[in-house]
Amino acid sequence: MKEIYNFSAGPAVLPKSVLLKAQSELINYRDSGMSVMELSHRSSLFEEIIQEAESLLRELMAIPDNYRVLFLQGGASLQFTMVPLNLAKDQAVGYINTGTWSEKAISEAKKIPGLDVQILASSQESNYTNIPDLSTLDVPQDLAYLHLTTNNTIEGTSIYHLPKSGAVPLVADMSSNILSTDYQVADFGLIYAGAQKNIGPAGLTVVIVRDDLVGKEKVPSAMLDYAIQAKANSLYNTPPTYAIYIAKLVFEWVKELGGVKEMERRNQEKAQLLYDYLEISALFDSPVAIADRSLNNIPFVTGQPELDKQFVSEAEAAGFENLKGHRLVGGMRASLYNAFPVEGVHALIDFMTNFEQQHGG
Ligand code: PLP
Repeated sequence: MKEIYNFSAGPAVLPKSVLLKAQSELINYRDSGMSVMELSHRSSLFEEIIQEAESLLRELMAIPDNYRVLFLQGGASLQFTMVPLNLAKDQAVGYINTGTWSEKAISEAKKIPGLDVQILASSQESNYTNIPDLSTLDVPQDLAYLHLTTNNTIEGTSIYHLPKSGAVPLVADMSSNILSTDYQVADFGLIYAGAQKNIGPAGLTVVIVRDDLVGKEKVPSAMLDYAIQAKANSLYNTPPTYAIYIAKLVFEWVKELGGVKEMERRNQEKAQLLYDYLEISALFDSPVAIADRSLNNIPFVTGQPELDKQFVSEAEAAGFENLKGHRLVGGMRASLYNAFPVEGVHALIDFMTNFEQQHGG
């Protein structure tokens, strides 16, 4: 098999041991004579899978009992609509704008007729290369919620210090740093994440929502209604069964390695290696404010678009896949999620050092 390092921002690299376990169970799950893909979602074998997935996630994130865990579809993008539909009707809602995904969440909320969408802070002016100061944020207490993106996948920033929002529930799009940075669930009213970075295959969306926010508003669609999904234990319709099964295997892997704190430690170590190199490099540079740098998505540039292109193509030829920066920001981006091995970071730095020697600084 071709040996490569996959720096994709998502769908992203999965632990090899998880893929091997899935392979070993692919056509005959627990001697059932069936693949997990072929199991009825109402069967006891699948119910066991989804229940184990939930209880592992609860354990890994220390999710308090007064929160529901939902396994849904539609990606994090559908949550941009489900959150306002379920949580706000005649109340205003607040957003912190820290990048492209925040912008999309704001734009979807604005499509809901009559919803008053307020932007309380933004780093748009600095091209989203930093997180605005949230320590002094004045959060109006009549908001239905305050939405933030804990990790900005495209721009490479993270929110490490949450704003004090008083009684207003924080809603977090945690798509690109769930299970990778150790947040306290109780600090949020709702957390959502597309699975395809730190959880498993695309097609699954995890929502963790506090009881009092479930059934808060009447929702004109069963599929979009947290209350209906919660009552049905995420089995209102056919859920993404295979993706839930792989997520369960990933949760087991995270637990075996020592849990979210250990993931965070490993991610800090991997990210620091690359950031340290970027600091001393005379050719490559990080455009992101030091205090706000993401552990998971690390953009870097040479400042010369043609040289960036050459770097990406030479890197790809050498087995470093998916290093091209997002089309909106250009340059390069190394995504180092939980399953990305530290050896890949060392190899990338060696490659960058060689490239730098050839192309000057
Ligand atoms: N939010 C963030 C922070 C993301 O990184 C992404 C996807 O990369 C999304 C939302 C959209 O997720 P999905 O493709 O699951 O709708």
